[in-house]
Amino acid sequence: MQQRHSRADFPIRGIISDLDGVAYRDDHPIPASVQAFQAWQEQGVPYAFVTNNSTKSAAQFAAKLSGMGIPATAAQVFNTISAVTYLLQQRWPRGTPVFAIGEQPLLEALELSGFRLTETDADVVILGFDSRLTYAKLRTAIRAALAGATVVATNPDVLTPVLDGYDPCVGILTAAVSAAVPTAVPIVVGKPDPFMIKQALGHLGTSKQETVMIGDQIKTDIVAGQAAGLRAVLLASDVPFNAVTGVVPDLVITSLLDLVATPAEETGAFR
Ligand SMILES: [Mg+2]
Repeated sequence: MQQRHSRADFPIRGIISDLDGVAYRDDHPIPASVQAFQAWQEQGVPYAFVTNNSTKSAAQFAAKLSGMGIPATAAQVFNTISAVTYLLQQRWPRGTPVFAIGEQPLLEALELSGFRLTETDADVVILGFDSRLTYAKLRTAIRAALAGATVVATNPDVLTPVLDGYDPCVGILTAAVSAAVPTAVPIVVGKPDPFMIKQALGHLGTSKQETVMIGDQIKTDIVAGQAAGLRAVLLASDVPFNAVTGVVPDLVITSLLDLVATPAEETGAFR
């Protein structure tokens, strides 16, 4: 694959990384990725994580990473829970009735942000990952959308990687609601929107030119990384239907260790 940049031009001084499929699959760490983050920690290369996953708080993701041997604090994790609550606080007043499909950390964050959870009179429907998805929840979301509620999705992913393959993700919920209510065009807050990557870049304090975005999904990670002005690195994987017309990763790697500087180098770089 042709690459747009030469190695010498762009040292790597900051890392922004996806989680699912890059750091781990489900509860199983990817060993080379653990080693890479440990190396970056030792070398003083700052890193942060951006995930479309809304099933854990930033602190819970940091604890999961730390438990796998990847040094991480909550401040380094940017997820769609905070992206959703930020959007809602920008556009709707406190007390706005909201119906959310999602797991406890998302529901708690919505309440803490001042929104009222309801199943009967929602002005906003939020679609997030929910391993306890039921027909009743889908019905409630669709009835609210039919009544004119705004639909907000945490992310567009249709598949999320787990140890033995892929599980259906939030994209199937937005597809279902859109099929039933074509006028309810969902607002999608996660990647490919570059919002979380810009947040992470602000946290790192590194320049766009010297920071990379690493992910395993082209339509979210690579598009978002490039939209934020970063070089986007694809960790090659078995993600199905992983292509977007006109979108080419700046680099394709098979291991995060491919980006780690050797002792002879000052910084990591494209090879
Ligand atoms: Mg991923």
